[in-house]
Amino acid sequence: MKIADGIICWEKTNGICFYCGIKLDPGTFTLDHFIPRSSGGSNTTENLVPCCKSCNSVKGTGDIDRLRFNLGRRKAGAPAFSKVQVDWLTSKGVVFPMETFVFFYESAGIVPPSAH
Ligand SMILES: [Zn+2]
Repeated sequence: MKIADGIICWEKTNGICFYCGIKLDPGTFTLDHFIPRSSGGSNTTENLVPCCKSCNSVKGTGDIDRLRFNLGRRKAGAPAFSKVQVDWLTSKGVVFPMETFVFFYESAGIVPPSAH
């Protein structure tokens, strides 16, 4: 990754985490593959978005729906079960707290990278 490419990504949000909206530190921000590499996302600036280490870690190799699910549950104070565990427990009648999580790029009206 060239420094110029990092700047292109940084400027997509002017230094705000693409997902949670916190102000990023120029020295420690990370770049996330918006569309996961495992789902055919590219390794170019078009698919890379600036985000904080926490969001990048929570998103892992998952997609945007998975991140929204995890951040919504975290926001609601739910325990950190995996989606598979939650689906199973839900099928047994367990109700988990869940809040809607709106990503920064959505509230800011930024068009996210799209698959081609
Ligand atoms: Zn974040």
